[in-house]
Amino acid sequence: MKVMIGAPSSSANAQHGLTDRLARWAKGLSGRPDEPQEAEAATRQRAGTAANREINRRRQLYADIGDFLFAHDLDLTAINFSVALDYLTGANIGVEKAIRAVMMERGKITNGWVESLAAEQRADEVTPESLATMLDKVEENLDQFTGLMHESRKSAKDYGAALQEQAKDLADVAEGEPVLARLVGLTRSMVEKTRAVETQLRENQKQTQALKSSLETARRAAEQDHLTGLPNRRAFEARLRDEVAEAQAANESLSIAFCDIDHFKAINDTHGHDTGDRVLKFVAGLLAKVSDDRCHVARHGGEEFVMLFRGKTAAETCEAVDEVREDLASRSLVNRTNGERMDRVSFSAGVANVLAFDDPRAALKAADRALYLAKEHGRNRVYLAAETD
Ligand code: GH3
Ligand code: MG
Ligand code: MG
Repeated sequence: MKVMIGAPSSSANAQHGLTDRLARWAKGLSGRPDEPQEAEAATRQRAGTAANREINRRRQLYADIGDFLFAHDLDLTAINFSVALDYLTGANIGVEKAIRAVMMERGKITNGWVESLAAEQRADEVTPESLATMLDKVEENLDQFTGLMHESRKSAKDYGAALQEQAKDLADVAEGEPVLARLVGLTRSMVEKTRAVETQLRENQKQTQALKSSLETARRAAEQDHLTGLPNRRAFEARLRDEVAEAQAANESLSIAFCDIDHFKAINDTHGHDTGDRVLKFVAGLLAKVSDDRCHVARHGGEEFVMLFRGKTAAETCEAVDEVREDLASRSLVNRTNGERMDRVSFSAGVANVLAFDDPRAALKAADRALYLAKEHGRNRVYLAAETD
């Protein structure tokens, strides 16, 4: 079993993916070789205390952002800065994908393009949070509407019944009395009208019920990853908060595992995006097989998954995740599009004891750092994070 104990390194995390990406575009744009950058990064990693490493990490990020803006002749605007930051840190997968696509197509991005990208991002900024708030509001309005409609239906029904009674009594005495006969006619037509209103209200009530169940579906969709069907990051974060409180109250262990498919970009590049999607679904399925009411799995984003194990120590969690890792790595997957056998697909993971950290987010970070070390040390392995920062 490839479970290893590794002390997390904070600078390691920051470099995750960044050096690779930078090296790729720097090579593409200026023809600079990437070795000196990596050598410098490695020297920096060894140097100094954790605080120094953090300062170095930030300094490097500023430099990377500067290089990026300079290489693309981008003005020093807040929008350009923010897009460069998103791209270089991988914080926004939409931005990352769009920039990669433009760089592949044209090699360079421009101020105007960044502005239109930022505008697009703003336009579809229906975040899961804002969607959930909207759903709450709609649901509240719908509840009020249902209440009002119920009242109106009841009034219309009562009114209709009272009118009908009146019409009957009037009819008995209206014989030969033209004024009374007209009144009878009017009352009867009112009875018909209130009946029609009542029918309409009943129909509306049915539609409201249907709308309510669509809302419930929308709410579930807002918490689900549409590709894999797993809960998404938002749902996971809510679950994490609940599980922390419950595990603490019950004095139970709680561990988190961060899993990231190895060289997934190469899978996309070699077999195409659709096959990449199928691999994602397949891995999601394997992880989901171990999930139950004590183990929650979610797609954290891209090719990253998170798992939360209740009642398992971090070491036990390492073993459980390692079993899935071994299972996946031993499979020989076939590309359905052309029948070709694919290279082995594997993932690396970092595991942390959630309750050893003040904040669950710190535990997630520690697991991410352990994951980074697992990648650094050869991938296709599970590492356990140390319990201190
Ligand atoms: P590493 O082993 O270091 O994790 O390398 P990697 O190639 O897996 O990591 P990298 O971050 O360089 O690339 C991740 C890729 O995952 C890039 C992105 O285009 C791809 N990806 C993210 N989301 C999806 C998706 O929904 N479908 C597909 N097909 N690809 C995706
Ligand atoms: Mg990743
Ligand atoms: Mg990966």
